[in-house]
Amino acid sequence: MPFPDGGTDKRTILDALAAARAHDADWRGGRTFSLVYFAGEDVLEVMRAAYATYIHENGLSLDAFPSLRRFERDLIEGCSALFGAATGSITSGGTESILMAVKAARDFARATRPDVATPEILVPETAHPAFDKAAHTLGVRIRHVPVDAGFRADVDAMRAMVGPDTVLLVGTAYSFPHGVVDPIRDIAALAIERGLLCHVDACLGGFVLAFAAEAGGEAVDFDFRVPGVTSMSADLHKYGYAAKGASLVLYRDRALRRHQFFATTDWPGGIYASPTMAGTRPGGAIAAAWAVMNHLGREGYVRLTRTVLDTSRRLREGVAAVPGLRLLGDPRHSVLAFAGDGLDVFAVDERLRARGWHLDRLQRPAGVQMIVTPAHAPVADTFLSDLAEATRAVREGGLAAAADGAIYGALTTLPDRGFVRELVLDWIDGLDRV
Ligand SMILES: *Cc1c(COP(=O)(O)O)cnc(C)c1O
Repeated sequence: MPFPDGGTDKRTILDALAAARAHDADWRGGRTFSLVYFAGEDVLEVMRAAYATYIHENGLSLDAFPSLRRFERDLIEGCSALFGAATGSITSGGTESILMAVKAARDFARATRPDVATPEILVPETAHPAFDKAAHTLGVRIRHVPVDAGFRADVDAMRAMVGPDTVLLVGTAYSFPHGVVDPIRDIAALAIERGLLCHVDACLGGFVLAFAAEAGGEAVDFDFRVPGVTSMSADLHKYGYAAKGASLVLYRDRALRRHQFFATTDWPGGIYASPTMAGTRPGGAIAAAWAVMNHLGREGYVRLTRTVLDTSRRLREGVAAVPGLRLLGDPRHSVLAFAGDGLDVFAVDERLRARGWHLDRLQRPAGVQMIVTPAHAPVADTFLSDLAEATRAVREGGLAAAADGAIYGALTTLPDRGFVRELVLDWIDGLDRV
């Protein structure tokens, strides 16, 4: 498409948007897992209005927009109270929150441990790639800690890996691939013993775990109530049910957070400082997160968490009952993952995709993963019957994955990982060509 010469009227534009969406995944109908956290039409209406009201406000200047400053402070204070933190910052998402926590750890080490040349972080294999991205971007070394048979960080292995340059230990509560909580108490105790920082990635699980006990689920020690935890990430735009572009990075003390900040004093454009990675920050995302937190309150979150935990339990039991599938690990909250037991799980996934379900694929071992939200409560039975049928077809037909499932399976097992990496970069590179 050439750059448009003339303008187009609003009606035509909105019709084009509506038409363009027709073939996108149906999140309202609970067909997507992991990409959308839909808490119902009432929550959507509140945050849509809040976002629209603040569509032009810029969180870069909280002087110009004291209202945004107040919303941020309310979010940070409210969520610090929820998780037992001292303070924190609002970021654009989990990746930025993790980037900021790793930067704070790196700059804290630079300030306090001059003997450390290249700071190193120890991160479970199952932790989110945002840590690899952060390490890559910040010039920090990352080492991956093995996990046990239940996909939880092996703390003995982590202990053996602590070296003179280690500055930060990481645990996830709970993990994206399998939904299990790392042994946070043990990781944090190791951090205390060795004088290290400890980050808990609760991007995914934070806003479920905080309400789990009250919602009739399993309580887990994961936040700042665990001695030794020094920072934490929790995504408002996941189970905080806020609009995309909102996450929290929280700290046990203000002094550590200060290492996250950036300031330069001599720019002709003025003295410039910003707390996080972004410069301009969308006021809409902040206002929407504030609106949702206040609209739901603890009661609303407990109610939604109950639905999520109940639905997850139904789905876990349902999946476990399908011959030819087995659950991976022992997740207790809102993620479940399964593998094929003597059959090609990507072939099952391909058949689910043909029926409009969008699940996530795992490797090492091959599996399929689901992140359960309130939108899945009404469709859980339909999903389970589709899953049973898809699995039966693969089991009885001896079917392997046909097209993209087979390609994906091959990519996960090709020994030349450098080649796979180039292929994936080619794919990203080509996205703007089709
Ligand atoms: C989603 C997620 C992240 C990254 O968050 P984004 O908002 O996608 O950047 C980090 N850690 C875990 C466990 C996650 O599930």
